[in-house]
Amino acid sequence: MIIHTSHGDVRTPVFMPVGTVGSVKSLTPDDLLNLGTQIILANNYHLYLRPGSKAVKKLGGIHKFMGWNHPLLTDSGGFQLMSLSRQNINLCHIDDEGVTFTSHLDGGISHRFTPEIAIKSQIDIGADIIMAFDCPVPAGADKKTTQICVKRTHEWLVRCIKTLNITLSRPPKNTPLVFPPKLGGNIKGVPDLFGIIQGGTFPDLLRESAQFVVSQNLPGIAIGGAAIGSDPKQTAETIAAVRDLLPKNKPLYAMGVGIRPSDLISVFSAGADMCDCVAPTRLARTGYLYNPEAKSERLNISQNKFKLDKSVLDVNCDCYTCVSGFTRAYLHHLFKSRELLYYRLASIHNLRTMIRTAASLPTTS
Ligand SMILES: [Zn+2]
Repeated sequence: MIIHTSHGDVRTPVFMPVGTVGSVKSLTPDDLLNLGTQIILANNYHLYLRPGSKAVKKLGGIHKFMGWNHPLLTDSGGFQLMSLSRQNINLCHIDDEGVTFTSHLDGGISHRFTPEIAIKSQIDIGADIIMAFDCPVPAGADKKTTQICVKRTHEWLVRCIKTLNITLSRPPKNTPLVFPPKLGGNIKGVPDLFGIIQGGTFPDLLRESAQFVVSQNLPGIAIGGAAIGSDPKQTAETIAAVRDLLPKNKPLYAMGVGIRPSDLISVFSAGADMCDCVAPTRLARTGYLYNPEAKSERLNISQNKFKLDKSVLDVNCDCYTCVSGFTRAYLHHLFKSRELLYYRLASIHNLRTMIRTAASLPTTS
């Protein structure tokens, strides 16, 4: 499948590196292109708080702001707020209308996120693909909690669609609205909105959610919540529960999948077309570098056994770090010395491994 956006095409299956605040940590846009990146993520919640969505808009939009003239997707912030509410109920309260939260960034000012605010903010940021503001089902949620999340996710999706319609179309009175935009409608400044399926680990709720999201006729569909991403088997089972309900001509985005390279094989085999995860860069920064022969598919470069190891990270890897011949011993030394070069070389290797893995798989349709 090819997803057309106003900043270029995306071929699936695709792994999307995460640049939460408008930067894939330690990498330049050229680095990202050189390792085969087609599309990156940024996060609405983080950009809304700093520098502010309006500031990004005034600076010409996210692509211009960060020097990335290629496809970009923003997550709505629903997942971050769900995580915040799980960490500290005093910092974040979710109700039927939206979420009230306190940010650590601005001295404890109270903020309110609603589907309307989340969509307007993503439009200001200027992403090519924007995500519905949802209520992700947390890990271990019982059925009653899951039902509340699913109901809110559906009600909020309707409000997201309405907001996108009104914000972009600005129709004169009595003019019919023209939503949804076609997938790949190359209309500058018109983002594609993806709806998100929630349902936790309950197949009946997952199917109910899938049917509802599909009925909204959006250009793409995502599946999210804690049941997706952490355990590849559970992720595959969750997708399998809804796969037959989903249109074949629209991309399915599995949110937060990609801790290990093998997770990509699993999730794309299950029927997803797109996925993203912070893990490759986060693991890289903490010393974990992908290697297909290692336990857990990664080396821990901090270990002393690498101090005199003259081999490269992965002899079969075509990334800049491996092809240039940087040894495990050198990377071990850089990591121990907390040299900035380590973060770049390590992130390049881990991201390239993920992108190469996705590119080696059959095209999804
Ligand atoms: Zn490499």
